[in-house]
Amino acid sequence: MTQASRTPEPSAEPSESEPAAESSEESGAGPLPEPRTFAAFEAAKGFMPADEGLALHAAAVRAARLGLPLLEVGTYCGRSTLLLADAAREAGVSVVTVDHHRGSEEQQPGWEYHDPDVVDPRSGLMDTLPAFRHTLHEAGLEEHVIAVVGRSPRVAAVWGGQLGLVFVDGGHTDEHATADYEGWAPHLAQDGLLVVHDVFPDPADGGRAPYRIYRRALDSGAFREISVTGSLRVLQRTCPGF
Ligand code: SAH
Ligand code: MG
Repeated sequence: MTQASRTPEPSAEPSESEPAAESSEESGAGPLPEPRTFAAFEAAKGFMPADEGLALHAAAVRAARLGLPLLEVGTYCGRSTLLLADAAREAGVSVVTVDHHRGSEEQQPGWEYHDPDVVDPRSGLMDTLPAFRHTLHEAGLEEHVIAVVGRSPRVAAVWGGQLGLVFVDGGHTDEHATADYEGWAPHLAQDGLLVVHDVFPDPADGGRAPYRIYRRALDSGAFREISVTGSLRVLQRTCPGF
């Protein structure tokens, strides 16, 4: 964890006067989600531990102050979406969550993260959309979320507006992670937050495509790092570029 914590790139002009890095809000110990939301998060199928979820929520609370939508790539069954939605509700913005709902490579039958309960018996294909809808409905958060069913790069290609937060948690191949970054980072507003999940600096811990887009964002000089929690990285846009 600490090994990945690095000095942010020097940027031409600090975009705001908030303290960097170590404040409690930035380390993830910020405002908590509603207990009902957190209970739903813990009950939902998905791939996000609680500490990372709270860091995601804290980032969403902060980003939502920009008054712009929060974008998620990788809805799955809505586990992380709940926490974005909780923050969006408080701020009066919307979450847009994108997924083709057919699962990533590692979630297909025979692979490590496959869950036979999310296979549509009629098509024999994965379909996480029903579970997602159930999760959101049960938590009372449907109003705050716009679900887009489609491939991330195709959705990004027709997306016109600015975003307050981009959360990349989709496919883990270089092809997918790079397309997510290149498709969505340009839409991220000044001071908006880029959150990347499954960032593993050490190849022994997992695939490194998310790590490579995280590195690319920092190396672009357009982002500074504001928190590290497990494999979750929160970066803030400091100037245009990606
Ligand atoms: N955020 C979720 C986990 C997401 S798992 C949680 O917290 O539990 C990754 C998801 O990304 C899968 O549901 C998969 O269908 C989706 N995905 C993978 N590649 C994609 C792509 N190119 N476009 C849209 N969705 C994609
Ligand atoms: Mg993930």
